[in-house]
Amino acid sequence: MSTRQPILRAEDLHVWFDLPGDSELHAVQGVSFELRPGERMGLVGESGCGKTTTILALMGLLPASASVAGRVHLEGEDILAKGEESVSPHRWKDIAMVFQGAMNAFNPVKTIGSQIAEPMELHGTATGRAARAQVRELLELVGISGERAERYPHEFSGGMRQRAAIALALACEPHVLLADEPTTALDVMVQAQILELLVRLTRDLGLAMILVTHDLPVVAQVCDRAAVMYAGEIVEMGQMTTIYHDPRHPYTRMLFAATPDLLGDEDVLSIPGAPPRLDHEIVGCPFTPRCDSAFAPCPTAHPRRLEVAPGHEALCHLNDHLVAERPA
Ligand code: SF4
Repeated sequence: MSTRQPILRAEDLHVWFDLPGDSELHAVQGVSFELRPGERMGLVGESGCGKTTTILALMGLLPASASVAGRVHLEGEDILAKGEESVSPHRWKDIAMVFQGAMNAFNPVKTIGSQIAEPMELHGTATGRAARAQVRELLELVGISGERAERYPHEFSGGMRQRAAIALALACEPHVLLADEPTTALDVMVQAQILELLVRLTRDLGLAMILVTHDLPVVAQVCDRAAVMYAGEIVEMGQMTTIYHDPRHPYTRMLFAATPDLLGDEDVLSIPGAPPRLDHEIVGCPFTPRCDSAFAPCPTAHPRRLEVAPGHEALCHLNDHLVAERPA
């Protein structure tokens, strides 16, 4: 495991939304993780598990109806400490995001180049001619001719818009990139090119990245580390190879089993049922109704987070025996 200091550290992050009738939806429930310079971490899970809400909280981009608690240290500074006042100087400059659905990331009546220049002008990193030159360089970096800076979003294909959205996120040379389902709605070939581009950029620019996806094989292909989310919590986290060869949470194991095998020589298993509603109190392990390994403590006791091996954590009663086996 890397000994470098984390560039980003989330500690006990909670996000909840007030709902009509005095109830609330607890979308993120005590998420903690660290991200080191140059590291690529996959945040993976089904829709509604809290992945996107987590990274929007890191960017300070949640809607006004959201409440946030916990700490997010970016290069040592708690960027949630004073809400918008503490996060806005870092947004786009130190931490940037590629949004889901590149078409929606751009204003249709402004040129792509002028939109990529906006964060530079906002943070004063470049203006005028210097900004225009940087925009062209950024477009070339992501594989688009710099000449296209004067074109409008509708003149770009889906794959090119996604590349331009990555250029936009890199405009102020951030150290952390958050990519939210960056290949959704792209065909398989373009998807592979975008993933390859993200890997190359993180490697060449020394960027740390969180890749949000529902697709565990994509994480296996691209990321060094994975954090598997379920019902607002990280239920397993560790090095990708370790999780792949030795998953210690049944949800992770079932996610792998639900992945089609390229050779087609293994059955694809679906995960029965659906994730729990997060606007109700959950007693016990939230995965109990869907888990093929559930046993006596699962419906009533919430499992504790245990380090099952160095750098590998899981939240499942199946690992409870480790506590008894460890020397006091
Ligand atoms: Fe399954 Fe129980 Fe582990 Fe939850 S705690 S994942 S129900 S075995």
